[in-house]
Amino acid sequence: MLDAGHGYETRGKRTPDGMREYEFNRDAAAYCKNELEKYDVDVYYSHSDSKDIPLQLRTDRANNLKVDAFVSIHANAFGSGGWNDVSGIETYAYTTQPSKSTALAREIQSHLVASTQRRDRGVKFANFHVLRETAMPSVLIECGFMTNPEEAALLRTRTYRQICGKAIANALVAFYKLKPKEHNSLYKVQLGAFSKEENARKLANRLIKAGFTPYIHIETK
Ligand SMILES: [Zn+2]
Repeated sequence: MLDAGHGYETRGKRTPDGMREYEFNRDAAAYCKNELEKYDVDVYYSHSDSKDIPLQLRTDRANNLKVDAFVSIHANAFGSGGWNDVSGIETYAYTTQPSKSTALAREIQSHLVASTQRRDRGVKFANFHVLRETAMPSVLIECGFMTNPEEAALLRTRTYRQICGKAIANALVAFYKLKPKEHNSLYKVQLGAFSKEENARKLANRLIKAGFTPYIHIETK
């Protein structure tokens, strides 16, 4: 489950010049989902663009669906309103340092730092709701500081959102050893559909004579 932190209405952080954190979070989550959909995995959102989803509902949903991982995407801020030079990326797991969450956090952190070339602030531990109330491995990612002029500019761009989303997806692919979907795809061409078996046989015979190897698939209603 991908969790874009906050919402359009819920208080999140903002850049001193007014970009809301959710604008970054939702796009990075969308790029991440897009990338993950190339693999044999089901991806859910905890958030919604149509209304803000409270934290409890998000973790309840993850627990009810029994998802394998909960990945919360955020952008950071430092200080009380103005610009400053604090920068970099950090990924959190719960305070008790559960081993799988911590390992997943390390995987994501290293992919993100390698892809973005931002400062590596490391894996950290915190008592955040989404880490505490989830029954599965869970991490919370801070993809850069909205209070750092250079990073705030990056966080606004489609390219940086895409790089972050893809890096998180690639980390999940590596961590869970996900297999590409293409391998499971089968493209079939149907040449006819009949209510009488006899008619299906007639067409199949014609195709055999023409050099094809048809098969008849029987669908019962
Ligand atoms: Zn946040």
